[in-house]
Amino acid sequence: MNGYARELEVALDAVRAAARVCRAVQARLVTAETLEKKDKSPVTVADFASQAIVCQRLQAVLPDDRVVGEEDSADLRGADSAELLAAVVREVSGELEGPVDAEGVLAWIDRGGAAADTERYWTLDPIDGTKGFLRGEQYAVALGLIEKGEVVLGVLGCPNLSGSAGPGLLFSAVRGQGAREHALETRGEDRAIGVAAVATPSEARFCESVESAHSDQGESAQIARRLGITQEPFRIDSQCKYAAVARGDASIYLRMPTRKDYREKIWDHAAGKLVVEEAGGRVSDVFGRELDFGKGRTLEDNRGIVATSGAIHDEVVAAVRAVRGE
Ligand code: AMP
Ligand code: MG
Repeated sequence: MNGYARELEVALDAVRAAARVCRAVQARLVTAETLEKKDKSPVTVADFASQAIVCQRLQAVLPDDRVVGEEDSADLRGADSAELLAAVVREVSGELEGPVDAEGVLAWIDRGGAAADTERYWTLDPIDGTKGFLRGEQYAVALGLIEKGEVVLGVLGCPNLSGSAGPGLLFSAVRGQGAREHALETRGEDRAIGVAAVATPSEARFCESVESAHSDQGESAQIARRLGITQEPFRIDSQCKYAAVARGDASIYLRMPTRKDYREKIWDHAAGKLVVEEAGGRVSDVFGRELDFGKGRTLEDNRGIVATSGAIHDEVVAAVRAVRGE
């Protein structure tokens, strides 16, 4: 097994930098007024700044690596987006050393426009859980490295998750090397993490999306009942759900399809899936199938997600299938 030490170092550095900017933007721009007006501009600024920063860092260290990011710069290039672009450039300048101009920022964002069809590429969700970000709640910066359709490295930045080192956690996993939790602010403060030791599903706490449009909460309630789970669901935005399972705060993550035609995006799951697996858990779709990251920008051959602490996985999938009438 090769080490991926260089890749891990740059991924941690990139996600740390992006998470710092997102945290500052959320603190400054998410206000009672933006909440009231459902104004999405705070997340738009942070989303583009985050993608620019991660792509810039990856380019500096691994210039040949491709990036499949969620965003592209089209929305920033229009004449009516000048103010938005200026705000993004300001946020990026605050984080990077050296001069930063609009063309440079647009070019970094567009580095995230690679096709998901090569031997090796990174996939980035610059802000996963945009709804959570806008509510002043949880979100994540998610970066995964995919080789030949398999996730080999993942880093999740969760600025509003709390650990012993205070608010702000980073999670990392390299295939075959375990999962670790890091303080977001302090380099070198990290520890190995593992899933909860839950022997039967009835003892489990399960987590799911806050947004009922992203996961069928009625169906998950039926599954929980069938499994004898009495604890209330832990609703939390973004890939923080994978982090919750990996560090033992929950033992099941259910993402039940709300639409037949929806396909999960690779950047919504790559990093989180590896963090859970390397922490000792298991991840599949609602049929119990392995997630296939070799099908382009979406998990074309999968539906929904079931992640667990591992030992209970087959039982949970059986309940999911029964409730779905299979
Ligand atoms: P979460 O924070 O877990 O609710 O998920 C946020 C992610 O849900 C976003 O990044 C979107 O890519 C994704 N999403 C959007 N629409 C749907 C849908 N209908 N079903 C599942 N996921 C969705
Ligand atoms: Mg997302």
